[in-house]
Amino acid sequence: MSKLYKEIGIGFVPVLLIFLAFVGVNVVPLLFIAILGVSLFYMIRSRGGVGVSAGGGDRKSKNRTPSYLTFDEIGGQDRAKRELMEALDFLIKHDQIQKLGIRPLKGILLTGPPGTGKTLMAKAAAHYTNSVYMATSGSEFVEMYVGVGASRVRDLFKEARTRAAKEGKESAIIFIDEIDVIGGKRDGGQHREYDQTLNQLLTEMDGIHTNDAPRILIMAATNRKEMLDSALLRPGRFDRHIDVDLPDKKGRLSILDIHVKNKPLAEGVSLEAIAEQTFGFSGAQLESVLNEAAIYALREEKAEIEQHHLASAIDKVMMGERTDKEAAIEEKERVAYHELGHAIVAEIVRPGSVQQVTVSPRGKALGYVRHNPPQDHYLYTKDYIEQQIMIALGGAAAEEIFYGGRSTGSRNDFEQALSMVRNMMDSGLTSLGIMDREMVTKEQLMKENAAILDALMHRTKELLDRQRTVFDHSFDILMKEEVLSGETFRKLIDSHIAESA
Ligand code: ATP
Repeated sequence: MSKLYKEIGIGFVPVLLIFLAFVGVNVVPLLFIAILGVSLFYMIRSRGGVGVSAGGGDRKSKNRTPSYLTFDEIGGQDRAKRELMEALDFLIKHDQIQKLGIRPLKGILLTGPPGTGKTLMAKAAAHYTNSVYMATSGSEFVEMYVGVGASRVRDLFKEARTRAAKEGKESAIIFIDEIDVIGGKRDGGQHREYDQTLNQLLTEMDGIHTNDAPRILIMAATNRKEMLDSALLRPGRFDRHIDVDLPDKKGRLSILDIHVKNKPLAEGVSLEAIAEQTFGFSGAQLESVLNEAAIYALREEKAEIEQHHLASAIDKVMMGERTDKEAAIEEKERVAYHELGHAIVAEIVRPGSVQQVTVSPRGKALGYVRHNPPQDHYLYTKDYIEQQIMIALGGAAAEEIFYGGRSTGSRNDFEQALSMVRNMMDSGLTSLGIMDREMVTKEQLMKENAAILDALMHRTKELLDRQRTVFDHSFDILMKEEVLSGETFRKLIDSHIAESA
C-alpha cells in the first residue's frame, strides 16, 4: 500500500511542478526544498530512523539472539552467580513480592573488567527466568542527531514488550553493554544527545511497574562504574550492583574445563598447571588460550592438544603472535642479557618462579620472561613489592653490567617499577609515611621516588654481579636455542651455587 502511495507521489510531483512553471510560478526554490527534504529523510532512515519501526534490520537481528545459555556454562564467578540468581528470584516470585509490597527490581548493574562473562551472565539470567532476551550496546545509541538515541531507547522497550507478548513470555530482560557510553555523568553542555538518551532510559525505567505484563528487567554492564550518573544508580533504578571479577585459580580451572569440552587433549596434559600459569587472565583470554592451542596442534598436524601447545598459546595471548623481526646479532645478545637479568633476580628472590626465558620476538617484545606466580595475590607486603621492582629493574641492571649503559628496551620495565613505587607511596610504605598526594609537594615525591629506585637498582646490580657465571652459561644456551626452560635455568643456578660454595 505504501509503495502505491509512493508511486502516485513520484508521478504527481513532477506534473505539479510542470503545471506551476507553466502558469508562471518560480519552482526553483520549491525544487530545492524538495530535494533537501528527500535526502534528509533517507539519511535519517539509513541511520536507524526515528519512527516506530526504527531499529534497523541489523540491530533487530542481533536482539533476537535466542538464549539457551545456563549458569552452569559460566565458569568460576560463584559469588556473582549466586547474587544474580537471588536478585532474579524477584522476577520469578513476583506474586509473593507483590503481596509484601516490595517494589520491583528494575535494574542490575554488572561491573568488572572486559571478558569476564558479563554478557554470559545476562544471557543465563534470561534462561533462568524464562524471559525474552534483548541485547544492545551503549554505543548503538550514539548518533549525531539529537533525539535519535532517545527514540531508540523507546523502541527497545517497545520491542521487548511486543516480543514477550508474541512469544508468550511473562518477562523480558534487556541487556545494555557499555552503559557508560550513554550513562556517563550529565553535564548539560555539549553532550545533549547523550543526555536525552539517558533521560529517556530513566523515564522508561520509572515506567516499569510490578503488575505490568510483561515484567521488564534491565541488566547493564560497565567496567567504569565511577563514570555513571548518580541518577542511574539511585534506588529504584540500577540499585543492584554485582562485581564480576577476574577469576581466581579455581575459577580459571573451571572456565578451562568448560571450554575444553569439545577439544581433544593429549594424555598427561594438566589444565591445573595452565590455570596456575594464567594469573590475571579473563575468561575470554582463557577461552582464547585453548583455541590458540588447538590451532598450534593443527599446524603441527597433531590429533590432540599437547602441553607445549598450551604453553605457546599462553605466550601468544599474553604477548601477541611470534613476529619475523630478525634482530641483528648484537641486538639479540643485548636482549639475552636483559632477559637473563630479569630471570636471575626473579629466581634468586623468589626461587622456582621462572617458567621460561625467551629471546624470540613476540608482539612488541624482543624477548620476555614468563613467571610462575606462587599463588593468587591480593595483598602485598613492602618486601614483596621491592622484590618485584628489583625483578623489573633486572634487565636494565644487566645491560649496565655488561654494556656499561642502558637501552630503550627498559621503558616498559621502568613504567612497571614506577607504578609499583606509586602503589607503595599511596599505601604508606615509604619514608613519606601515611600520606595523601595533596599533602606533599611534587619535589618530595620525586625525591622519594628517586631514593627508592636508586637503592633498589644498587641492590639489583650487586645481586647480579655475583651471578656472572650463571649469565655466561645460560647466555650460550639462550643464544643457541632461543628458549631456556625454568628447570634448566634452575639447574644452572644450583650448580653455580654448589661451585662457589
Ligand atoms: P565485555 O565487558 O568486553 O563486554 P564481558 O564481560 O561481557 O566482556 P563476555 O562477552 O561475557 O564478557 O565473555 C566473552 C567470552 O569469554 C565468552 O563468550 C566466553 O567464551 C568467555 N568467557 C568469559 N568469562 C567466562 C566464564 N566465566 N566462563 C566461561 N566462559 C567465559
